[in-house]
Amino acid sequence: MRTPKRLYAQQRLIYQPEWPTCPHCGEVLVMCNYLAWDKTVQTLDQVLSVANRPGRCPQETCPGSHMRLLSAQAQSIASPGSTYGYDVVVRIGWLRYQARATYREIHRDVASHVRISESHIRYLYQHLYLPLLACHERQHRDHLAQIAESQGGLIIALDGLAPQGGAPQIWFIRERTSGLTLRSGWLAKQDQTTFETFLRPLKQLEWPILAVLSDNSTVVSSWFEVNINPSSSISYTLD
Ligand SMILES: [Zn+2]
Repeated sequence: MRTPKRLYAQQRLIYQPEWPTCPHCGEVLVMCNYLAWDKTVQTLDQVLSVANRPGRCPQETCPGSHMRLLSAQAQSIASPGSTYGYDVVVRIGWLRYQARATYREIHRDVASHVRISESHIRYLYQHLYLPLLACHERQHRDHLAQIAESQGGLIIALDGLAPQGGAPQIWFIRERTSGLTLRSGWLAKQDQTTFETFLRPLKQLEWPILAVLSDNSTVVSSWFEVNINPSSSISYTLD
């Protein structure tokens, strides 16, 4: 049997929470002395070695001391348990669904960027891409209820990916401590009306939203300020 060749990461990235303070009491977070996860991820451009160091509130009496806050940016690279970047998965989905490509054609395209077999492309489409699109908060209700109870609410992060460098873009709403995707969708436009329709179900969530992180989209930030919580919105800039 042939041993698969090792993948060598071109970059080592250790992420920390983008927001330095506790969402409950405002105390400066302390970093945990372990990594929440550490994995090699193939993206369309490069092989990354990515790890996520959690932060927590140092005040023992604060609900924030039970939180393990993770970097939203690290979570936007690959889904939990996957070693292929979201950009790879989204490109497979785009080629299959929007461009009606066969698995063989998708393989020809994607294999010029990452090491992957045709059967694994099929697997990623069926077991990662399709569930991502179908996912919503009801699927993960028990897990989310547990998280919300232990930390007094949810912290969510939003980000978008454009597989063809323009419209349409796929947008994800994730819970920040678990990386679970609450909602995702292809948005043909990135205007106010489109975002409002996409975000509206969050108003009906049964748990409070403590904070929202988004990569500098003013439409998204102002929607949260008006509809959820005036102090909830946190913008951060992607590197
Ligand atoms: Zn705190």
